[in-house]
Amino acid sequence: YAAKEQRNSYRLFAPHWTETLPRQLVLENGLRATALDGELEVFYQPQMDCRSGRLVGLEALTRWNHPVLGLISPQEFIPMAEEIGIIADMDEWVLENVCRQHVRWEEVLGYPVKVAVNLSARQLHRPHLPERIRQLLQRHKVDPSQLEIEITESAGLTKAEATIRLLKELRRIGIGTAIDDFGTGHSALAYLKKFDFSVLKIDKTFIRGLDHDPVNRALVQAIVGMAHALGLKTVAEGVETEAELERLKQIGCDAVQGYLFSQPLPASEMEKFLASIRHRDKDAAEA
Ligand code: C2E
Ligand code: MG
Ligand code: MG
Ligand code: MG
Repeated sequence: YAAKEQRNSYRLFAPHWTETLPRQLVLENGLRATALDGELEVFYQPQMDCRSGRLVGLEALTRWNHPVLGLISPQEFIPMAEEIGIIADMDEWVLENVCRQHVRWEEVLGYPVKVAVNLSARQLHRPHLPERIRQLLQRHKVDPSQLEIEITESAGLTKAEATIRLLKELRRIGIGTAIDDFGTGHSALAYLKKFDFSVLKIDKTFIRGLDHDPVNRALVQAIVGMAHALGLKTVAEGVETEAELERLKQIGCDAVQGYLFSQPLPASEMEKFLASIRHRDKDAAEA
Protein backbone atom coordinates (compact mmCIF):
# COMPACT_ATOMS: atom_id res chain seq x y z
CA TYR A 1 0.00 0.00 0.00
CA ALA A 2 2.85 2.33 0.87
CA ALA A 3 4.38 1.79 -2.55
CA LYS A 4 1.10 2.61 -4.20
CA GLU A 5 0.69 5.77 -2.24
CA GLN A 6 4.21 6.77 -3.06
CA ARG A 7 3.56 6.26 -6.70
CA ASN A 8 0.42 8.37 -6.62
CA SER A 9 2.19 11.26 -5.05
CA TYR A 10 5.00 10.81 -7.53
CA ARG A 11 2.47 11.10 -10.30
CA LEU A 12 1.08 14.20 -8.73
CA PHE A 13 4.38 16.00 -8.54
CA ALA A 14 5.94 14.74 -11.71
CA PRO A 15 4.47 17.34 -14.08
CA HIS A 16 6.14 19.96 -11.96
CA TRP A 17 9.51 18.20 -12.28
CA THR A 18 9.22 17.78 -15.98
CA GLU A 19 8.92 21.53 -16.24
CA THR A 20 11.98 22.21 -14.19
CA LEU A 21 14.25 19.24 -14.95
CA PRO A 22 15.55 18.26 -18.34
CA ARG A 23 13.83 15.24 -19.88
CA GLN A 24 17.06 13.26 -19.75
CA LEU A 25 17.29 13.59 -15.99
CA VAL A 26 13.63 12.76 -15.42
CA LEU A 27 13.97 9.64 -17.52
CA GLU A 28 17.24 8.52 -15.96
CA ASN A 29 15.84 8.90 -12.46
CA GLY A 30 12.73 7.07 -13.56
CA LEU A 31 14.73 4.20 -15.01
CA ARG A 32 16.70 3.81 -11.80
CA ALA A 33 13.52 3.73 -9.73
CA THR A 34 11.52 1.54 -12.09
CA ALA A 35 10.82 -1.89 -10.82
CA LEU A 36 11.22 -3.69 -14.14
CA ASP A 37 7.90 -5.46 -13.82
CA GLY A 38 5.94 -2.25 -13.39
CA GLU A 39 6.54 -0.04 -16.38
CA LEU A 40 8.50 -2.10 -18.88
CA GLU A 41 6.68 -4.35 -21.31
CA VAL A 42 7.93 -6.68 -24.02
CA PHE A 43 6.26 -6.25 -27.40
CA TYR A 44 6.63 -8.73 -30.26
CA GLN A 45 6.89 -8.34 -34.03
CA PRO A 46 6.49 -11.29 -36.42
CA GLN A 47 9.08 -12.40 -38.98
CA MET A 48 7.67 -14.10 -42.06
CA ASP A 49 9.24 -16.37 -44.66
CA CYS A 50 9.71 -14.17 -47.70
CA ARG A 51 8.25 -16.57 -50.27
CA SER A 52 5.68 -18.68 -48.41
CA GLY A 53 4.54 -15.93 -46.05
CA ARG A 54 4.63 -18.36 -43.15
CA LEU A 55 5.62 -17.25 -39.67
CA VAL A 56 9.27 -18.04 -38.92
CA GLY A 57 9.93 -16.05 -35.77
CA LEU A 58 9.13 -13.17 -33.43
CA GLU A 59 11.38 -10.32 -32.33
CA ALA A 60 11.07 -9.08 -28.75
CA LEU A 61 11.11 -5.26 -28.60
CA THR A 62 10.89 -3.61 -25.20
CA ARG A 63 8.68 -0.61 -24.40
CA TRP A 64 8.75 1.68 -21.40
CA ASN A 65 5.52 3.23 -20.28
CA HIS A 66 6.58 6.22 -18.20
CA PRO A 67 3.86 7.30 -15.73
CA VAL A 68 4.08 10.93 -16.84
CA LEU A 69 5.88 11.11 -20.15
CA GLY A 70 4.06 8.14 -21.66
CA LEU A 71 5.54 5.61 -24.07
CA ILE A 72 9.31 5.99 -24.37
CA SER A 73 11.13 4.47 -27.35
CA PRO A 74 13.96 1.99 -26.71
CA GLN A 75 15.99 4.24 -28.97
CA GLU A 76 15.88 6.72 -26.10
CA PHE A 77 15.93 4.53 -22.97
CA ILE A 78 18.32 1.73 -23.97
CA PRO A 79 21.33 4.10 -24.24
CA MET A 80 20.31 5.58 -20.86
CA ALA A 81 20.05 2.13 -19.28
CA GLU A 82 23.55 1.43 -20.64
CA GLU A 83 24.83 4.71 -19.27
CA ILE A 84 23.52 4.18 -15.74
CA GLY A 85 24.59 0.55 -15.67
CA ILE A 86 21.28 -1.32 -15.49
CA ILE A 87 21.17 -2.68 -19.04
CA ALA A 88 22.35 -6.19 -18.13
CA ASP A 89 19.55 -6.58 -15.60
CA MET A 90 17.06 -5.17 -18.06
CA ASP A 91 18.10 -7.52 -20.86
CA GLU A 92 17.97 -10.52 -18.54
CA TRP A 93 14.51 -9.45 -17.46
CA VAL A 94 13.51 -9.39 -21.13
CA LEU A 95 15.00 -12.87 -21.67
CA GLU A 96 13.10 -14.22 -18.69
CA ASN A 97 9.85 -12.76 -20.03
CA VAL A 98 10.49 -14.16 -23.47
CA CYS A 99 11.08 -17.64 -22.04
CA ARG A 100 7.91 -17.50 -19.98
CA GLN A 101 5.88 -16.34 -22.96
CA HIS A 102 7.33 -18.99 -25.26
CA VAL A 103 5.09 -21.70 -23.82
CA ARG A 104 2.03 -19.56 -24.59
CA TRP A 105 3.04 -19.05 -28.24
CA GLU A 106 3.28 -22.81 -28.64
CA GLU A 107 -0.17 -23.32 -27.11
CA VAL A 108 -1.71 -20.72 -29.39
CA LEU A 109 0.07 -21.81 -32.58
CA GLY A 110 0.26 -25.56 -32.09
CA TYR A 111 4.02 -25.49 -32.70
CA PRO A 112 6.97 -23.65 -31.16
CA VAL A 113 8.20 -20.38 -32.65
CA LYS A 114 11.70 -18.93 -32.46
CA VAL A 115 12.09 -15.63 -30.60
CA ALA A 116 14.82 -13.08 -31.31
CA VAL A 117 16.06 -10.95 -28.41
CA ASN A 118 18.26 -7.84 -28.69
CA LEU A 119 21.24 -7.80 -26.37
CA SER A 120 23.14 -4.65 -25.60
CA ALA A 121 26.82 -4.72 -26.44
CA ARG A 122 27.43 -3.42 -22.94
CA GLN A 123 26.41 -6.69 -21.41
CA LEU A 124 27.99 -9.06 -23.90
CA HIS A 125 31.03 -9.37 -21.73
CA ARG A 126 29.18 -10.03 -18.51
CA PRO A 127 30.91 -13.06 -16.99
CA HIS A 128 29.33 -16.41 -17.84
CA LEU A 129 26.62 -14.85 -20.03
CA PRO A 130 26.17 -17.91 -22.28
CA GLU A 131 25.92 -20.17 -19.24
CA ARG A 132 23.38 -17.84 -17.61
CA ILE A 133 21.28 -17.92 -20.76
CA ARG A 134 21.61 -21.70 -21.05
CA GLN A 135 20.37 -22.15 -17.49
CA LEU A 136 17.51 -19.75 -18.06
CA LEU A 137 16.39 -21.71 -21.12
CA GLN A 138 16.68 -24.97 -19.23
CA ARG A 139 14.66 -23.64 -16.30
CA HIS A 140 11.85 -22.67 -18.66
CA LYS A 141 12.23 -25.81 -20.80
CA VAL A 142 12.86 -23.77 -23.95
CA ASP A 143 15.06 -25.45 -26.54
CA PRO A 144 18.14 -23.31 -27.36
CA SER A 145 17.23 -23.48 -31.06
CA GLN A 146 14.14 -21.42 -30.19
CA LEU A 147 16.24 -18.42 -29.17
CA GLU A 148 18.16 -16.00 -31.36
CA ILE A 149 20.37 -13.27 -29.93
CA GLU A 150 20.56 -10.06 -31.99
CA ILE A 151 23.64 -7.90 -31.70
CA THR A 152 23.94 -4.54 -33.41
CA GLU A 153 26.84 -4.36 -35.81
CA SER A 154 28.64 -1.34 -34.39
CA ALA A 155 28.26 -2.72 -30.91
CA GLY A 156 30.60 -5.66 -30.98
CA LEU A 157 33.43 -3.87 -32.72
CA THR A 158 35.15 -3.25 -29.44
CA LYS A 159 36.75 -6.24 -27.73
CA ALA A 160 36.56 -8.23 -30.93
CA GLU A 161 38.27 -11.31 -29.53
CA ALA A 162 35.86 -11.57 -26.62
CA THR A 163 32.88 -11.12 -28.95
CA ILE A 164 34.12 -13.88 -31.23
CA ARG A 165 34.41 -16.22 -28.25
CA LEU A 166 30.97 -15.28 -26.98
CA LEU A 167 29.29 -15.90 -30.34
CA LYS A 168 31.02 -19.27 -30.65
CA GLU A 169 29.83 -20.24 -27.21
CA LEU A 170 26.22 -19.24 -27.93
CA ARG A 171 26.30 -21.21 -31.18
CA ARG A 172 27.81 -24.21 -29.41
CA ILE A 173 24.86 -24.20 -27.01
CA GLY A 174 22.57 -24.14 -30.05
CA ILE A 175 21.38 -20.53 -29.82
CA GLY A 176 21.05 -18.53 -33.06
CA THR A 177 23.01 -15.30 -33.46
CA ALA A 178 22.01 -12.38 -35.67
CA ILE A 179 23.96 -9.32 -36.73
CA ASP A 180 21.44 -6.48 -36.48
CA ASP A 181 21.17 -3.25 -38.53
CA PHE A 182 23.66 -4.64 -41.00
CA GLY A 183 25.18 -1.99 -43.26
CA THR A 184 24.98 0.90 -40.84
CA GLY A 185 28.18 0.23 -38.88
CA HIS A 186 31.81 -0.08 -39.87
CA SER A 187 34.04 -2.75 -41.45
CA ALA A 188 31.04 -4.87 -42.33
CA LEU A 189 32.83 -7.35 -44.55
CA ALA A 190 35.71 -8.28 -42.28
CA TYR A 191 33.13 -8.71 -39.57
CA LEU A 192 31.12 -11.36 -41.35
CA LYS A 193 34.15 -13.52 -41.94
CA LYS A 194 35.41 -13.29 -38.38
CA PHE A 195 32.22 -13.61 -36.39
CA ASP A 196 30.05 -16.66 -36.06
CA PHE A 197 26.60 -15.29 -36.96
CA SER A 198 23.76 -17.45 -38.25
CA VAL A 199 21.55 -14.57 -39.44
CA LEU A 200 22.14 -11.18 -41.07
CA LYS A 201 19.47 -8.51 -40.63
CA ILE A 202 19.52 -5.90 -43.38
CA ASP A 203 18.91 -2.44 -41.92
CA LYS A 204 15.66 -0.74 -42.88
CA THR A 205 17.43 2.21 -44.50
CA PHE A 206 18.32 -0.14 -47.39
CA ILE A 207 14.79 -1.53 -47.70
CA ARG A 208 13.12 1.87 -48.02
CA GLY A 209 11.97 2.42 -51.60
CA LEU A 210 13.65 -0.77 -52.75
CA ASP A 211 11.25 -1.00 -55.70
CA HIS A 212 12.30 2.31 -57.26
CA ASP A 213 15.73 3.00 -55.78
CA PRO A 214 18.41 1.32 -57.93
CA VAL A 215 21.17 2.02 -55.43
CA ASN A 216 19.36 0.30 -52.56
CA ARG A 217 18.44 -2.56 -54.87
CA ALA A 218 22.09 -3.08 -55.83
CA LEU A 219 23.16 -2.93 -52.19
CA VAL A 220 20.52 -5.37 -50.96
CA GLN A 221 21.34 -7.75 -53.82
CA ALA A 222 25.01 -7.63 -52.89
CA ILE A 223 24.34 -8.08 -49.18
CA VAL A 224 22.04 -11.08 -49.72
CA GLY A 225 24.48 -12.69 -52.16
CA MET A 226 27.35 -12.22 -49.77
CA ALA A 227 25.40 -13.50 -46.76
CA HIS A 228 24.31 -16.63 -48.61
CA ALA A 229 27.84 -17.29 -49.84
CA LEU A 230 28.91 -17.26 -46.19
CA GLY A 231 26.03 -19.51 -45.11
CA LEU A 232 23.97 -16.87 -43.30
CA LYS A 233 20.20 -16.46 -43.54
CA THR A 234 18.96 -12.96 -44.36
CA VAL A 235 16.14 -11.01 -42.72
CA ALA A 236 14.97 -7.67 -44.16
CA GLU A 237 13.86 -5.17 -41.49
CA GLY A 238 11.30 -2.43 -41.91
CA VAL A 239 9.37 -3.85 -44.87
CA GLU A 240 6.39 -1.51 -45.31
CA THR A 241 5.04 -2.06 -48.81
CA GLU A 242 4.04 -4.90 -51.14
CA ALA A 243 6.44 -3.48 -53.73
CA GLU A 244 9.38 -3.78 -51.33
CA LEU A 245 8.33 -7.35 -50.51
CA GLU A 246 8.15 -8.23 -54.22
CA ARG A 247 11.71 -7.01 -54.76
CA LEU A 248 12.95 -8.96 -51.76
CA LYS A 249 11.37 -12.12 -53.16
CA GLN A 250 13.14 -11.53 -56.49
CA ILE A 251 16.44 -10.93 -54.74
CA GLY A 252 16.04 -14.13 -52.72
CA CYS A 253 15.98 -12.70 -49.21
CA ASP A 254 14.92 -15.38 -46.70
CA ALA A 255 12.67 -13.60 -44.21
CA VAL A 256 10.95 -10.26 -43.77
CA GLN A 257 9.77 -8.15 -40.87
CA GLY A 258 7.92 -4.83 -40.88
CA TYR A 259 4.72 -2.83 -40.64
CA LEU A 260 3.44 -4.51 -43.83
CA PHE A 261 2.78 -7.59 -41.69
CA SER A 262 2.44 -6.14 -38.22
CA GLN A 263 3.72 -3.47 -35.87
CA PRO A 264 5.34 -4.72 -32.68
CA LEU A 265 2.39 -5.78 -30.46
CA PRO A 266 1.86 -6.46 -26.75
CA ALA A 267 1.89 -10.19 -25.97
CA SER A 268 -1.91 -10.36 -25.61
CA GLU A 269 -2.44 -8.88 -29.08
CA MET A 270 0.30 -11.04 -30.56
CA GLU A 271 -1.58 -14.07 -29.25
CA LYS A 272 -4.58 -13.01 -31.35
CA PHE A 273 -2.36 -12.50 -34.38
CA LEU A 274 -0.88 -15.98 -33.93
CA ALA A 275 -4.33 -17.52 -33.44
CA SER A 276 -5.43 -16.00 -36.76
CA ILE A 277 -2.32 -17.48 -38.42
CA ARG A 278 -3.19 -20.87 -36.99
CA HIS A 279 -6.66 -20.70 -38.47
CA ARG A 280 -5.33 -19.53 -41.81
CA ASP A 281 -2.80 -22.40 -41.91
CA LYS A 282 -5.49 -24.88 -40.93
CA ASP A 283 -7.85 -23.62 -43.64
CA ALA A 284 -5.06 -23.81 -46.19
CA ALA A 285 -4.29 -27.40 -45.16
CA GLU A 286 -7.95 -28.41 -45.47
CA ALA A 287 -8.54 -26.68 -48.79
P1 C2E B 1 16.15 -3.17 -33.89
O1 C2E B 1 16.47 -4.37 -33.12
O2 C2E B 1 16.87 -2.96 -35.16
O3 C2E B 1 14.58 -3.23 -34.09
C1 C2E B 1 13.90 -2.81 -35.25
C2 C2E B 1 13.21 -1.48 -35.04
O4 C2E B 1 12.47 -1.14 -36.23
C3 C2E B 1 12.17 -1.49 -33.92
O5 C2E B 1 12.21 -0.21 -33.32
C4 C2E B 1 10.86 -1.71 -34.67
O6 C2E B 1 9.74 -1.24 -33.95
C5 C2E B 1 11.12 -0.89 -35.90
N1 C2E B 1 10.31 -1.33 -37.06
C6 C2E B 1 9.79 -2.55 -37.30
N2 C2E B 1 9.13 -2.58 -38.48
C7 C2E B 1 9.25 -1.36 -39.01
C8 C2E B 1 8.79 -0.76 -40.25
O7 C2E B 1 8.15 -1.39 -41.09
N3 C2E B 1 9.13 0.54 -40.45
C9 C2E B 1 9.84 1.26 -39.55
N4 C2E B 1 10.11 2.53 -39.85
N5 C2E B 1 10.29 0.74 -38.38
C10 C2E B 1 10.00 -0.55 -38.13
P2 C2E B 1 12.10 -0.04 -31.76
O8 C2E B 1 11.12 -1.04 -31.22
O9 C2E B 1 11.89 1.40 -31.48
O10 C2E B 1 13.53 -0.45 -31.23
C11 C2E B 1 14.67 0.30 -31.53
C12 C2E B 1 15.94 -0.41 -31.14
O11 C2E B 1 16.06 -0.51 -29.72
C13 C2E B 1 16.00 -1.85 -31.64
O12 C2E B 1 16.40 -1.84 -33.00
C14 C2E B 1 17.02 -2.45 -30.70
O13 C2E B 1 18.33 -2.17 -31.15
C15 C2E B 1 16.77 -1.68 -29.41
N6 C2E B 1 15.98 -2.53 -28.49
C16 C2E B 1 14.63 -2.74 -28.46
N7 C2E B 1 14.29 -3.56 -27.44
C17 C2E B 1 15.45 -3.89 -26.80
C18 C2E B 1 15.79 -4.70 -25.65
O14 C2E B 1 14.94 -5.35 -25.01
N8 C2E B 1 17.11 -4.77 -25.30
C19 C2E B 1 18.08 -4.10 -25.99
N9 C2E B 1 19.36 -4.21 -25.57
N10 C2E B 1 17.81 -3.34 -27.08
C20 C2E B 1 16.52 -3.23 -27.48
MG1 MG C 1 16.81 -6.23 -33.47
MG1 MG D 1 17.63 -3.56 -36.66
MG1 MG E 1 18.94 -1.50 -33.80
